[in-house]
Formats: sequence, structure tokens, C-alpha cells
Amino acid sequence: MIYDLVIIGAGPAGLYAATCAAMNKIKSVIIESSSEYGGQLTLYREKTIYDMPGFARINANDLANNLYLQYKEYEDEVPLHMNTQATGLEEHDDHYVLHTNQGLFITKTILLANGGGMFQPKKLEIPKADFMDNIHYFIKDTTQFKGKDVVVLGGGDSAVDWALTLIDIAKSVTLVHRRNDFRAHQHNVDDARKRLNVLTPYVAKDVDGEESASGLILENTETKEVVTLQTDAILVFYGVTPVKSKMDQWLVDIKDNSILVTPNMQTSRHGIYAVGNSVFYEGKLRMIVTALGEAATAIGAITKFFYPEKTLTYKH
Ligand SMILES: Cc1cc2nc3c(=O)[nH]c(=O)nc-3n(C[C@H](O)[C@H](O)[C@H](O)COP(=O)(O)OP(=O)(O)OC[C@H]3O[C@@H](n4cnc5c(N)ncnc54)[C@H](O)[C@@H]3O)c2cc1C
Repeated sequence: MIYDLVIIGAGPAGLYAATCAAMNKIKSVIIESSSEYGGQLTLYREKTIYDMPGFARINANDLANNLYLQYKEYEDEVPLHMNTQATGLEEHDDHYVLHTNQGLFITKTILLANGGGMFQPKKLEIPKADFMDNIHYFIKDTTQFKGKDVVVLGGGDSAVDWALTLIDIAKSVTLVHRRNDFRAHQHNVDDARKRLNVLTPYVAKDVDGEESASGLILENTETKEVVTLQTDAILVFYGVTPVKSKMDQWLVDIKDNSILVTPNMQTSRHGIYAVGNSVFYEGKLRMIVTALGEAATAIGAITKFFYPEKTLTYKH
């Protein structure tokens, strides 16, 4: 399949660009290196944002979810591939081949919405766990947990949502969080407490087993009581940590360690556009509102690239 556009990054800029691309009927796909959408918003989920037009205040987590829900209306037209990290680019006569850790994407244009870097899942701090084949940081296929005893670690929306999703698939699901209060949506937390085995406040201390984990050793953070859970699979949703991007892999001109763009968000390379925190132009502000405006501008320019005669308007 040859795409018209691959969007790299599902932060605010990438998610909104995907929405705009779908509205303009550009055959696109969006890829995200981590298992969570929202980019930097995932680093400060509980922070209140005061400079988002239309909202006197909005919680970062709610803004990320709203951007995602808006995009989700179009997910059939513009699929989102999570855990897909762009690693390099080859230029051909009339297309690019984008290399990722999940294979190649052939595309006529690219939108770099990669922010300042990638977000990678925070790992279990148990060295032995790095080599175990049943400790997961993202889920590709839920059927692999059919009939299994699953432990889900974490207190955010990803942990709670996945724990609830797996109830009807796994033999048992235990949700473990280090605090008594969860960061996830209260409605889902209440649902989890009714339908799942929820253990708080516990932290993972060690794992039993060699190639696969057969047990998870937990410590109660208040009483220091130690318990072992027998398990077939451990799912870890501890959030993400940022890893700075190497800017030289995109074949484009760089200024001040950022991607140099023209007013229509085009880079120095034909067919490659960039938006959001990774770009440089005179007066650039590293804010959500500017990233969203740049996404609309870039998709407008990409639409012109494919349909030079088209009048540029989004659905409104
Ligand atoms: C603590 C903090 C508080 C902030 N508060 C505010 C505020 O109140 N108001 C405001 O306007 N702004 C605020 N900001 C800034 C704001 O979050 C950013 O400007 C905004 O997130 C930029 O969006 P973006 O989509 O360009 O990049 P990002 O949010 O960085 O998203 C980039 C996405 O691309 C993905 N990615 C990167 N490389 C690859 C790759 N190779 N392959 C696949 N995916 C990749 C990343 O994993 C990430 O999900 C704050 C920032 C921080 C750190």
C-alpha cells in the first residue's frame, strides 16, 4: 500500500493533523513510538492548562483524551499504529520509504510531528524481568491472554482500561497499584474495584521464574507485608519517559537543533513537512495552541500538494 501521508507522532500536533488529514480525505496513517497517545501531555497529566483557547482551565489528561476522541471519529480513514517507532528514511523518485521497528511504510509525503523526542514505556525496575517473555509493556493481541492469570501494574488510564478489557478474556485479572488512589477516570476505577481483584498500595519487588515469570512478589508500601501472586502474564503500565530525538535522521535542514520550516510548515526536503515542538521558525512558541495551528497549516499545504486546485477549508 502506498500512503499519501505518514504522520510521525501522536502528540497534540500529530493527533490533530490526523483529524485534519481525514477531513481533507488524504490517505494517511499515524504512527506513535510509545503505547500512549498525547505526547508531552502524558508527562503532566494532572497539571491544569490555562492557555488553551476556549477553556479557562483544562486538565492535561482531559485535553489529551479530547484530542484523541476527536481523532477517533476518523480512525477508520487514518489508522493509528502504536508502539511503532520511525527509525529512518529513504528517498526515492516520487515517494519515501519510512523504516520503523514494525516494518516499512511507503508514502508520498511525511509529516514530522515528533516533538522533542520519543516516549518509551517505563520499565519494571527488576533487572531479571528485562529478559522474561511474558512481561508486556504494550498489548498487540488480547487473545494471547485467553484463559490466563494476568497481573496488571499501574494506576493510570492505560492500566485500568486494559485490566477492564481483559476481564472477559483472561482467566483472572489482578490490578496492582502502589497508591490507594488511582489517576485513572473515577468511573473506571469504581468499575474495576467491583469487577476485579484490586491490590493497593503494593509495589512489585521481584519475579519468580527463569525465561518466563511464574510469580510476582509484591510489597505493601504501608505495612511492608510481602505477598506472591501466581501469574501467567504481567502487564506493566507505569507511564512513559522521554528520549531525545536524533534530528539528523530525517534528511532535512536543522537550525538550533530543530527542523527548519517555511510558513506552510514545509522542510528543506520536497514532500516532508514538520510541526509542533520539533520545528524552528522565527518567533516559534513551544505551546500546544501553536502546535495545533501548525498541524492545520501543514495539512492545508499537503492537501495543496495533492490537489493544487482545491480550495482549503476544513469541515465547520
Ligand atoms: C511539564 C510541561 C508542562 C507544559 N505545560 C504547557 C501548558 O500549560 N501549555 C502549553 O501550551 N504547553 C505546555 N507544554 C508544552 C506542550 O506540552 C508541547 O508544546 C506540546 O506537547 C507539543 O506537542 P507536539 O505534538 O509537537 O510534541 P509532543 O507532545 O512531544 O509529541 C510528540 C510525539 O511523537 C512521538 N515520537 C517522537 N519520535 C517518534 C518516532 N521516531 N517515531 C514515532 N513516534 C515518535 C512521541 O512519542 C510523542 O508522543 C508543557 C510541557 C511540559 C513538559
